[in-house]
This record gives sequence, C-alpha cells and structure tokens, in this order.
Amino acid sequence: MKVSVVGVQGDVEEHVIITKKAMQNLGIKGDVIITRKFGAVSKSDVVIIPGGESTTISKLIFADSIAEEIIQLAESGKPIMGTCAGLIILSRFGDEQVEKTRTKLLGLLDVKVRRNAFGRQKESFQTKLQMKRIGEIDAIFIRAPVIEDVGEKVEILAKFEDKIVAVQQDNILGLAFHPELVSTKVHEYLLSLAHNL
Ligand code: GLN
Repeated sequence: MKVSVVGVQGDVEEHVIITKKAMQNLGIKGDVIITRKFGAVSKSDVVIIPGGESTTISKLIFADSIAEEIIQLAESGKPIMGTCAGLIILSRFGDEQVEKTRTKLLGLLDVKVRRNAFGRQKESFQTKLQMKRIGEIDAIFIRAPVIEDVGEKVEILAKFEDKIVAVQQDNILGLAFHPELVSTKVHEYLLSLAHNL
C-alpha cells in the first residue's frame, strides 16, 4: 500500500510516523511518502492532508495541480483524510475568513467550515472524544475549525460539546483536531477503508 502525505506545509512528519505505526499494527506492507509535487498522489492508495495554515496549503496545492490529482483520486474511491487545516481544504464551503483570503477549497466534503472557531482561551486544548466506528480517542485541537453545516451524504463521526468535529462522506474523512499527535486509532481506521479489513 502506498500512502502519500501532502507535505507542502504543516505537521507532515507526525502523520508519516503515525501512519507507519498504524501500518505495522495492522500488518500492512507499504510505503508512506511525503509529496510536494504533482505526480505522486495519483499513484497512491491513501492520501492525507495535514494541519497547518489552510491559506498556504491551498495556494501550494492549487499552484502545482496536486489539487486536481487529489480530486481525481477521491472520485476513484480512494480514502483521503484531512485534519484541521486539511479538513478546511477538503470542504465545499468556508466562512468569511476563507472567502476574504480567497482560499480555494477542494469541495470533496459537503460541509461548511469555520476557521479558528474556538475562542482565545481554548485556542489549543486536549479532550477525550467518542468517535463513531473508532471508539474513544484523545483529541488535540490547535486553532481548530468546526463544521457548521453538513450535507445529506455526510455522516457525523464526532462532536465536541455541541460542535461537529469529525465527519465522513464515503471515502473522505475530515477531522477538526490532530489525531496524529496521540494515537494510531484514526489512521488505522483510514487504512482499513483502503484495505477492506
Ligand atoms: N487555524 C488554521 C487554519 O485555519 C488551522 C490550524 C491547524 O491546522 N492546526 O488554517
């Protein structure tokens, strides 16, 4: 199995390390690569878009046509996960900050996101979350977005208080928090979508 982590900006290494561990746990053989250029995504079985700055990540993936490759791969049914800024990039609609900065989104998840949705006090925090199909996980939120609206095909996987923070639409997973910093559980679930475990 080949997993590509989009590595133009953000917490890329953390995703690589945890994906390798998740593969080991599941006994899956394969490679995890960091990709910054057009070409690698279309040969991947799974793609991860990390957290970072959505404005920067968007500019770089659209400048180099990685964006088009991700859209094509998603349409072919391969699993794709975006975390935090990666969730924003996967979404169809953004808030006024997304519009003001003219951040282009991939539109693969039929949701509306709000950037930096937690107040100053709560800019970064860790909490336990109950995730559908995955169970209890520790979730770290770092200047995280929330999902404000979801379309019919979108399944809500987790809420924090009354806020939607994790969703799945067929082969696309979007998380407002950072699963790569705490455990392999979410990555194992993502890999299982590709591997039909
Ligand atoms: N606040 C960032 C943004 O809106 C996301 C933060 C993150 O990915 N940790 O792009």
